[in-house]
Amino acid sequence: MYNLAMKQYKHTDVEAKWRVKWDQNKTYQVDLDKAKKPFYNLMMFPYPSAEGLHVGNMYAFTGADVYGRFQRQQGYDVFEPIGLDGFGIHSENYAIKLGKHPAKLAKVSQKRFYEQLARIGNGFAWNNKLETYDPEYYKWTQWLFIQMYKKGLAYRGKAMVNWCPSCKTVLADEQVESGVCERCKNEVERKEMEQWFFKITNYADKLLENIEKIDWPNKIKSAQRQWIGRSEGLEIAWEVAKTAEKIWTFTTRPDTIYGATFIVIAPDHPILNKLNISKEAKEYKLQALKKTEQKRKATEKDKTGADTGFEAIHPITGNRIPIWIADFVLMDYGTGAIMSVPAHDERDAAFAAKFNLPTIDKLADKDEVFKLLEDKDAGVKKTNYHLRDWLISRQRYWGPPIPMVYCEKCARLPGGQGWQPVPEDQLPVLLPAVSDWEPKGDGKGPLEKAPDAWLYTKCPNCGGKAKRETDVSDTFLDSSWYFLRYPSVKKNIENPLLDVPWDEGLTKKWLPVNAYIGGAEHAVLHLLYARFVTIALHDWGMLDFEEPFPFLFSHGLIIKDGAKMSKSRGNVIVPDDYIDKYGADTLRMYLMFVGPYSQGGDFRDTSMAGMNRFLLRCWSLFTDSQKVKAKTTNKLLRKLNQTIKQMGEDIASFKYNTAIARYMELVNVWRETDQVLSKEDAISAIKIIAPLAPYVSEEIYQSLTNDEEFASVHLELWPKFDENQVKEDIITIPVQVNGKLRQTLEVSCEQSKIQSEIEKLARELPNVKKYLLSEPKKTIFVPGRLLNFVI
Ligand SMILES: [Zn+2]
Ligand SMILES: [Zn+2]
Repeated sequence: MYNLAMKQYKHTDVEAKWRVKWDQNKTYQVDLDKAKKPFYNLMMFPYPSAEGLHVGNMYAFTGADVYGRFQRQQGYDVFEPIGLDGFGIHSENYAIKLGKHPAKLAKVSQKRFYEQLARIGNGFAWNNKLETYDPEYYKWTQWLFIQMYKKGLAYRGKAMVNWCPSCKTVLADEQVESGVCERCKNEVERKEMEQWFFKITNYADKLLENIEKIDWPNKIKSAQRQWIGRSEGLEIAWEVAKTAEKIWTFTTRPDTIYGATFIVIAPDHPILNKLNISKEAKEYKLQALKKTEQKRKATEKDKTGADTGFEAIHPITGNRIPIWIADFVLMDYGTGAIMSVPAHDERDAAFAAKFNLPTIDKLADKDEVFKLLEDKDAGVKKTNYHLRDWLISRQRYWGPPIPMVYCEKCARLPGGQGWQPVPEDQLPVLLPAVSDWEPKGDGKGPLEKAPDAWLYTKCPNCGGKAKRETDVSDTFLDSSWYFLRYPSVKKNIENPLLDVPWDEGLTKKWLPVNAYIGGAEHAVLHLLYARFVTIALHDWGMLDFEEPFPFLFSHGLIIKDGAKMSKSRGNVIVPDDYIDKYGADTLRMYLMFVGPYSQGGDFRDTSMAGMNRFLLRCWSLFTDSQKVKAKTTNKLLRKLNQTIKQMGEDIASFKYNTAIARYMELVNVWRETDQVLSKEDAISAIKIIAPLAPYVSEEIYQSLTNDEEFASVHLELWPKFDENQVKEDIITIPVQVNGKLRQTLEVSCEQSKIQSEIEKLARELPNVKKYLLSEPKKTIFVPGRLLNFVI
């Protein structure tokens, strides 16, 4: 019997019951081999680097899940996996803070995170979960490193690198935001060190070119374009007067060369070691080199610099212009020197104004300038990038050991290679248990203190004694390929002999990812690295697509007290208490209602009770025998059909807040005393709220259908609507002549707003024709309201 007497809705019991039942029936565990219409719905997996998920994380996961559930209702076989990005600096810093060994902490976090993730009511494919610290997983992260090495994309080199004194490790450029560490927010120093790099720069053009082919938010696309920072221009040689030296400048505006009135070089430009520069410039250089990049940027508005006392000879006019040093010019971009054109560059103008340097406003033809310079061997066309190679090694403990060994004997052979990759059949190189695992900051990783049995191994080349690399790889390498692993996880567990990073057939079927949903904070970090790795794998013939995420949706943030939720601000809200008090459905609905999913919104728990009352009201209506009867009343039938249509459009475009608002309108009409739904229509009405409130909708659906065999509402299709019922309402427009009503016009709501159409129809009305004796001098039109001909 569906028309149960009104009974109390106990969310705790209901939610626990369906969690078990969905699990038993594998409701969300799609058959990956046999699925006919695959849809890979992916959300960015969390760092388990806190006590648990906070409401901000739940916001991200709920919104992604609503989308996945809706796609399932469109007839797709939806695969929605989850896992933990638990290796790396985030989890390790948390372990340092708590003073617990990261391996032990990982077990605690894993249990806690998975319990929370299960409670929020997402349709996860639990059989395919993965953790990046699982040797079964990082074996392949190490394999990926070795492939990079074998293809010449991984190399060891000395370079100026970012060093975080607080995290006691080097960082990639992408992990430094305005001079501070992305993780701990401490100021980053520059050091010259030998490290492992991936040649992501080889793919700069490809990464740039493919941006045009992917459906991503513009702000993320432009962040990637900017980070890659391709600029085409000219390198121009300037002779330094009275010396045999030359300075090469890079410019994207060779047409402004006649306006160049001085040269500015970086304080660490090597030419400064060859010139006896002014005392003032020497002092400036010393001061500038002490400053961190952050301090340099902080003083950017207030220009500083010093005249070196030397002059450069203009390669076209032969005029002499002074050479300055200033810290706004960076050695690692372009040539570390620029020609300054105050007439056509704001920064140069500010510098010129401060130091009384001249301005010349003269433009030339770009190609002509190039030809003139080329003839004098003073100009070379050049493309510059902001993108640098990906620094991949970390002097930390909690990560996959870099699978390389060093053999001194082989290094001494003529043309010999000291560094050798670990043979693939010896993978994984297990992370050894080390009690003293905290970073020391001496440039060496904690694995230096690993037992000799781990540290020393056989050289794969000569069989002699070789030492393992003791750095681990960057956490962003772990997440650069996890989406490739998910579909194959279960198959690999069931067939240990498979021994492949991903199954070929499953990968062909499920990838690339259909929808990737996550926050914008990874605009250039994770998203750039994952694209690079995928393009490289495609190049090596290991994947048949280049872009891993052809469609990306970036959600907004949940704000509390005007700020992003973070521990340091002390405004973190844990979902558990709300789920206990109101149920996961209420919290889900509340979160999806705070604002457009793309924008985020403000978390105020005062409105939570209201959302809970709304869901209880729905429960009462659906289970009230006076509200579910044989035939749906006309007004409600129209409203239901319109709601099915509009909510479908809203959810498909991530406008969950307006979808909920429309559902509230539907419920309000239903609550009117004479309005009832038929059982069949009530079932349609529960299906459309199911993606947002999965538990209560399942409970109501079961009470309405009362099937012998369990058939979940979440495996039902989105209901069809009746076109005739959703048509816009008819609007009556009064038509006047000289302000007097002569006749009315019945048109659709849409039509009523278009003057040309209304005018045309009005002129045909008999009683209007009769009074419209001459062509009107003026026509007054109020869209949707009125038309008045003035004659
Ligand atoms: Zn740091
Ligand atoms: Zn050797």
